[in-house]
Amino acid sequence: MLEGPTEESTTVPTTIPHWYDPDSDVLAITDGDGTTVVDETGTTYLDFVSQLYCVNAGHGNRTIIDGMTEQLEQIQYVSAAKRSPVRAALGERLVDLAPGSLSHALFSVTGSEANELAVQLARNHTGASKILTRWRSYHGSTYGAGSLTGDPETRNLVETHAATTGAAKFLPPMAHRSPFDAETPAELADAAADHLEFVIRNEGPDSIAAIMMEPVAGSSGAYTAPPGYFERVRELCDEYEILLIADEVITGFGRCGEWFGVETEGIEPDLLTFAKGVTSSYAPLAGVLARPELVADIEQEGFDLGQTFGGHPVGCAAGLAAIEAYDNGLIENARENAPALETGLDELASRTDVVADVRGRGYLRAVEFADPATGEPFYDPRVDDTGGDEREGESENPVPAVAAALEDRGVIVGTGRPATQLLLAPPLCA
Ligand code: PLP
Repeated sequence: MLEGPTEESTTVPTTIPHWYDPDSDVLAITDGDGTTVVDETGTTYLDFVSQLYCVNAGHGNRTIIDGMTEQLEQIQYVSAAKRSPVRAALGERLVDLAPGSLSHALFSVTGSEANELAVQLARNHTGASKILTRWRSYHGSTYGAGSLTGDPETRNLVETHAATTGAAKFLPPMAHRSPFDAETPAELADAAADHLEFVIRNEGPDSIAAIMMEPVAGSSGAYTAPPGYFERVRELCDEYEILLIADEVITGFGRCGEWFGVETEGIEPDLLTFAKGVTSSYAPLAGVLARPELVADIEQEGFDLGQTFGGHPVGCAAGLAAIEAYDNGLIENARENAPALETGLDELASRTDVVADVRGRGYLRAVEFADPATGEPFYDPRVDDTGGDEREGESENPVPAVAAALEDRGVIVGTGRPATQLLLAPPLCA
């Protein structure tokens, strides 16, 4: 017989322990308005990371709340086996906004699932199974998406999965502490693309279904690619007949200054995945935008890749309203003000020797910290897969304390993976 909780076991089992820890000093957020949130004691904070880089329209946006409320008043759920006008309307709106020839919208619930759906479409179309992803990327935490992720902490957790999902990693074109011997951005773009070609040939082009990349690597530290890199990646995909999947879970919906990150990077993917910003995170909704031939396959073969909550009507209503809000000045605001954010951060960094690098695009920025004793960053992506936690004999990584001190002063920021950098991603209304 199953035993219920005993007097000693008062903690609720969870994957995120602080949710239930009454002694935790983690903020309990109860309210929000625009760029600010309020905690349970009534203290107001500037939310400079849009929670998980996802509340792109800011908190309490009336357009989105009204859109969702109206939908709730009408019909709260429609089976995936039936048609729903709001689902069709959002699909059409997304396809209108989509870059290039992405003509079909498919819905799921989370970004992890959207990436897995894109992998299923790519594998089904190519008949190949491997997916290439970047070292220092994040693509999700579920069984399949976790093994696509090139982040040491997640990878270690799911490393046994990697063998079964066939995800191989390649080095990203990072400029700071670059693993490549390059003097200029153009040399870096070439060296990183040559390396990718080596990996493609080494893995065997016929065995590779797709390359998946974030246009700007988000939670691993706002890493941008040098000009020309993504064009070379697109050329390699075309040459070796490999599909290109853009993971736009963070970069989509204005985060980097345009509707989608691929627009700022000047490429057209074959598949694009989205989540977070599509509803400004007012409701869980995610999905894939795909070229027609990739979807025709599954339609013809009669596969059903739908999920009970995929394309939920309330999520779709939130999506339509969020897109209206972005269109009514929010993306423009972020695009216009991003240079001020960049210059301000550069100026702050120039006044101190504790910053090793400042990088990013639009309203997605990272500040990497240096050890004041040595001037070296706390984390060296070339050699360190510990997440920066296991260095000995040098100063302690100050980033968690800096983030906590900022919070004490009323500003919420994120910490990247690894937590040797601050992540900044204000709502687009900031
Ligand atoms: N892809 C990227 C780039 C992400 O940043 C995330 C989450 O942060 C995901 C995928 C996974 O999305 P979700 O947490 O909704 O499953």
